[in-house]
Amino acid sequence: MNRVNSSTTLNFINGKYCDPVGDDWLENINPADGTLLGRIANSTEQDVENAVIAASNAQSNWSESTLEQRSRILTKIGDLIEKNLESLAIIESEDSGKPIDRARTIEIPRAASNFHFFANAITQFSSESHESVGQNAINFTLRQPLGVVGCISPWNLPLYLFTWKIAPALAAGNCVIAKPSELTPRTASMLGDLCNRAGLPVGVLNIVQGAGTGAGQAILEHEKIKAISFTGGTATGEHVARVVAPKFKKLSLELGGKNPNIIFADCNYERALETTIHSSFANQGQICLCGSRIFVESSVYEKFKADLVARASQLTVGHPSKTETTIGAMVSGDHYRKVLSYFDEIEPTEAAILCGGKPATVEGHAQGFYIEPTVIEVQHNQCRLNQEEIFGPVVTLMPFDNEEEVIAMANDVKYGLSATIWTKDLDRTMRLSKKIECGVIWINTWLMRDLRTPFGGMKNSGVGREGGLEALRFFTEPKNICIAFEN
Ligand code: NAD
Repeated sequence: MNRVNSSTTLNFINGKYCDPVGDDWLENINPADGTLLGRIANSTEQDVENAVIAASNAQSNWSESTLEQRSRILTKIGDLIEKNLESLAIIESEDSGKPIDRARTIEIPRAASNFHFFANAITQFSSESHESVGQNAINFTLRQPLGVVGCISPWNLPLYLFTWKIAPALAAGNCVIAKPSELTPRTASMLGDLCNRAGLPVGVLNIVQGAGTGAGQAILEHEKIKAISFTGGTATGEHVARVVAPKFKKLSLELGGKNPNIIFADCNYERALETTIHSSFANQGQICLCGSRIFVESSVYEKFKADLVARASQLTVGHPSKTETTIGAMVSGDHYRKVLSYFDEIEPTEAAILCGGKPATVEGHAQGFYIEPTVIEVQHNQCRLNQEEIFGPVVTLMPFDNEEEVIAMANDVKYGLSATIWTKDLDRTMRLSKKIECGVIWINTWLMRDLRTPFGGMKNSGVGREGGLEALRFFTEPKNICIAFEN
């Protein structure tokens, strides 16, 4: 693939790779060993302006292309992601520190699925019509592309989340200005070349690289960008909302989480334990959906605690390129230090570290950002460890006695993204599902995704839903057309 040379990640505007106008660059650091991977274009308003000009020029042809044409191109992009799976997975793992196996088997395949799914979904997307009986009129909803839209994504699932926004935006007939995280820029950059090879017309997708405060802010502020789909931290989301609201842009926010994982004594114990290891530590705990607050029914609490600690301690922290690695590196030095700072500030009266709680040593990679999988027993749900999103390989553990108590604790947090419930009691699953305040609830499983379902959070975890037809609705403007007729 001739995307970027190995040391420089450029912008992709109007179908071509280009330097940032201001000739400003950021460093791309390999979190596995602290070495320099290369430099990244650090874009400004001028680069965003160039991208918007390219997108505006491409807009009318793209929105007037047939659904079959769009669907065919998106399918080809998905196919090309599959064809280049290995090189994309290697780059993703290098940029982010995630285990190569995760990138290879879960994340890059999902990026391909995002394109395949929306290539198909757009051909099935229909709108409503309402006959106004007795008034001799029929109303129907015309759904039109919004125009040029902005997509801003985070570093934790880089290509997976970047494409989760871009694919529906393109399928719905919009042109896109997209910005990946400056910490994980390269698979997004590679996507530009794949889009050219798939025959996506130039200017339809433009990828602007660089810091959130520069390129990202310029996307938020640009008058011609009609909508913003943003995934990232809650504090950034609040800022995004403040900038975008007075401009009356359409806005979708997918933000942080502090998700409860609730384990009742009557569950399938082995499955709950096995999945809890995964929902706690997958991607070094850097998934917005990780079940970071574990609540266990008192009668099985001590057993679960011992088993969880034993299993967590057996996980292999290692270099992300090794297939046996289950816990790779944290994404950056800053994030690594932020996660470690929680351990320094633990009050012994509030919490006790049961395992981990310190940097992990990986032989030969002393400068890498590794942290041991950590389980902390906490005394109450109001402590900082249970209230703040740590976003690392860190979970807390607490017992509970009954449903009311655990529902109250599950909801007593500012976030509301997801929850996991382990029980065989069907009535209980329904009682809890109705009362727990979050956008996604998994019963006896975790992170089982069907791309048709609405995805998003309540409270400070976001506004709006993406996924399936919700994403196509977000990326279109519904217009009511009322036609009167004579009898
Ligand atoms: P972040 O908020 O720091 O950055 C996200 C993106 O926003 C990056 O591309 C960044 O460059 C950009 N950005 C930063 N400042 C900006 C500004 N002023 N204007 C415009 N763009 C700006 O988040 P992160 O650290 O990259 O990601 C981790 C967070 O994302 C966690 O809180 C996690 O829970 C959340 N997340 C949520 C979901 C979800 O679906 N709800 C999914 C994944 C991650």
